[in-house]
This record gives sequence, C-alpha cells and structure tokens, in this order.
Amino acid sequence: MFEQVKLTYDFNALEPHIDELTMQTHYGKHHAGYTNNLNSALEKLPGLQGKSIEEILINLGEIEDAALQRTVRNNGGGYYNHNLYFATLSPNGGGEPRGDLGSQIKKDFGSFEELQKTLTAHAAGVFGSGWAWLSTDRDGKLVVSSTPNQDNPLMVEGGKLMPIFGIDVWEHAYYLKYKNVRMDYINAIFNVVDWDKVAEFYQKAL
Ligand code: MN
Repeated sequence: MFEQVKLTYDFNALEPHIDELTMQTHYGKHHAGYTNNLNSALEKLPGLQGKSIEEILINLGEIEDAALQRTVRNNGGGYYNHNLYFATLSPNGGGEPRGDLGSQIKKDFGSFEELQKTLTAHAAGVFGSGWAWLSTDRDGKLVVSSTPNQDNPLMVEGGKLMPIFGIDVWEHAYYLKYKNVRMDYINAIFNVVDWDKVAEFYQKAL
C-alpha cells in the first residue's frame, strides 16, 4: 500500500502564494484519488508487490495488460509526482539553493536566475495538463524538461533521469486562485519552494 507523503505544514501555510482551498482539494481529493486508484490497480498486479514506485514507473512497459498499464501510468505518476511536489513546498521556502545543488545549478545553467527562467518557460509552455521538471542524471548533471498528464522523467528517460522538483501545471493546482493566469501561479510558487528539500532529493538521487 502506497501512502501519501505527510504534509509538514498546514493547508493554509502557503498563503498567499497557494491558497488553502486549493491545497485542501489538491492534497485531500486529487492526490488521495491517485493514491487510491494506484493501490487498487496494484491489487491486480501481484508481481509488482514490494517494488518501489520508482521501479514501477521506470518499468511500466512490463505491465502486459494495456488498460492496467495506463491506469498505473496515470495514477502511479499522479501518486509519485504529488509526493514530490508537496514534499518540496514549504512556508519557509523561496530563496536560492545552496551547497552542492547550488554549485551544480551554476555549472549547468550559469545562475539560479537562468534555471528559474528555464523552468518557468517549460511550465508556461505545457499545452493542457502536465508538469515542468528539474531532474538529475546519475552523474549529477541537472536537466529541465516537461511532460504531459501525470507522466514524469522516470517514465520518459527509462530511469536515466531522477526528478528532484516538479511544478504541477494542471489547472487544479492553481485555478481557484489564479484562474486562467498560469504565469502568476508559476511566479508565485518560487516563493514556497523548499530548496533544502530539493537538495536532499538531489543527494539521494546520486
Ligand atoms: Mn496536481
């Protein structure tokens, strides 16, 4: 049984950048739904018992039944993506990454501002629902990309890339507060990114 990441802050703690009702609905309905649907699908796939969510997503192609594979892709992706998303937000977030992650960003993008611009462009550029990602390869090189739906770089790159931060640009992530103005949400989210947490995921991925 997969479980949602426990929030270390209250639903209203990310105000005014992300509003309380969006957080309640996003975590309590959307993320809970993906998690329940994933667990139900896995009951029909005893061969995947005990595997990590990362292993399952990297090896989606091994699920023979096409409908079940699609269900695990959508809901397993939704489960994993939101665990990462909610874990890397914090009322004490914002600022810039320090340490190894900060140095690597300068090496790969020139500056944090350039990384932020690239992530913003990818998030703004998703047509319809999807995600913008910051990922690392096994050598620590950072890559920005975007995916549609609940896909993520684990699926796309066959395990070569490990996501360490993602911006959810599904309308459910921002529409209650920002309506159609996705860019305001993207700009706002940088005020609540917990870069120390992102740095932890970076170290873990290497
Ligand atoms: Mn979402």
